[in-house]
Amino acid sequence: MSTIEHWIGGSFTSGSENRRGAVFNPATGEQQHEVVLASAEDVDAAVTAAQAAFVEWSQASLSKRTKILFNFRELVNSRVSDLAEIISDEHGKVLSDAAGEVQRGLEVIEFACGIPTLLQGSYSDQASTGVDVFSFREPVGVCAGITPFNFPAMVPMWMYPVAIACGNTFVLKPSERDPSASNFIARLWAEAGLPDGVFNVVHGDKVAVDAILQHPGVAAVSFVGSTPIARYIHQQASATGKRVQALGGAKNHAIVLPDADLDYAAGHLTAAAFGSAGERCMAISAAVAVGGAGDALMDLVVRKALSVSVGPGRDPASEMGPVVTAAAKERIESLIGAGEAQGAKVLVDGRGLTVPGHENGFFVGPTVIDQVTPSMDVYTEEIFGPVLSTVRVDDVDSAIDLINSNPYGNGTAIFTSSGEAARRFQRGVKVGMIGINVPIPVPMAYYSFGGWKDSLFGDKHVHGPEGVSFYTRAKVVTSRWPHISHASEASFHFPTAS
Ligand code: NAD
Repeated sequence: MSTIEHWIGGSFTSGSENRRGAVFNPATGEQQHEVVLASAEDVDAAVTAAQAAFVEWSQASLSKRTKILFNFRELVNSRVSDLAEIISDEHGKVLSDAAGEVQRGLEVIEFACGIPTLLQGSYSDQASTGVDVFSFREPVGVCAGITPFNFPAMVPMWMYPVAIACGNTFVLKPSERDPSASNFIARLWAEAGLPDGVFNVVHGDKVAVDAILQHPGVAAVSFVGSTPIARYIHQQASATGKRVQALGGAKNHAIVLPDADLDYAAGHLTAAAFGSAGERCMAISAAVAVGGAGDALMDLVVRKALSVSVGPGRDPASEMGPVVTAAAKERIESLIGAGEAQGAKVLVDGRGLTVPGHENGFFVGPTVIDQVTPSMDVYTEEIFGPVLSTVRVDDVDSAIDLINSNPYGNGTAIFTSSGEAARRFQRGVKVGMIGINVPIPVPMAYYSFGGWKDSLFGDKHVHGPEGVSFYTRAKVVTSRWPHISHASEASFHFPTAS
């Protein structure tokens, strides 16, 4: 069993702690690695390395930064399948899905390759007589990323390519459940020519996170994970004067109108609910059947759910892998039981699934629950498993009200052939990312990703223009080059343009 170490200042280290975490292969249920868990001293070592590297990196020319980013892009692009295998072995998702997350991360790296344009300031010639005004943006310092298990490559890539391109240095604290992808990435950065200390990885749990939040050398914190921890991160980082963006959990609704192509809608709902075993923050976990759409839609969804091929992520025949841990499996199964006990109809039951040859794997089959009401646990809880709950409502406005009454506001989708209904929906829902006949509306890298309400604490979404803004701060320069003869024009009244 190998030990997964921190990457600090350009080399691997096991740090100062003896604490270790177990990393499982969810398809077999066996522990395959142990991961070192950082102490506050280890976090301090990483931040100190990042602070030292910031001195030069923040002064590196745009041209130098861009060259390294392009090198890095090429290296990640050439290693997609290696990364996908690492992800699949620790997370459980199928290889094609793992490769897809790397691809979406690559798009952020490609966005960051355009940093010379993204950092262009503005210039106003002759703002006042003989006076020019211009602005530009500077890096903020050491930035930290704290990330969840469900996208071990993509979610960190929402953060560090942009932060580093902007001239910052970075300390990543990935999920302790699937930490290997981050170390693989650290080696690729080094190979790309990134100076030591610009990108660091510390592994760990709450101890490491709290040390990041308390460290005076950390200027900005980007977090992605569950809502209770996102709220905590936002409060703690704000209290210590850091910039913070903390993305939380989700309950994403897809509404289906009777005028939709129901076969298309059912296919996309099924894929969006069960892809990656439902462990996506943009997974559709609540279907909202409007008016007469319900029965026909449920028939189609049930048929499609029963045909999903569940198996180990490494098997190309598998469409859906296991969930991440035994505890996650137990929690998901108990929530399905709670739904049943509270009166919902379990039309497809994924509990107790065993996959031949992988009897100890953490598998839960696709589950379809109908006649769900908003007070049931399957509706109020973020299940984060392959469970699709269906609520039935009378009309579009009731569907919009339902979505707006939910505390989360990450993503949502509508299936319809009515432009009028789609427009009413896109304007009416209090949600950050909206799909129209698109079930998982993850924005392209050159837009920004983020939800509303309990799905995001902080002002800025990640990557895209808001990411650049988060990782930089503005300077505005007002400049005059006076002739000596103008020196006598100084005045005590507040400066106004002339
Ligand atoms: P999590 O909140 O348990 O963990 C996220 C990170 O926080 C990890 O690095 C973990 O080590 C750390 N952490 C956990 N408990 C902590 C504590 N008590 N104090 C300080 N740090 C702690 O989330 P997870 O289970 O890894 O990931 C799943 C969650 O992430 C889901 O809720 C999902 O919706 C959410 N998520 C949201 C988005 C988004 O864009 N909004 C994207 C991906 C995942």
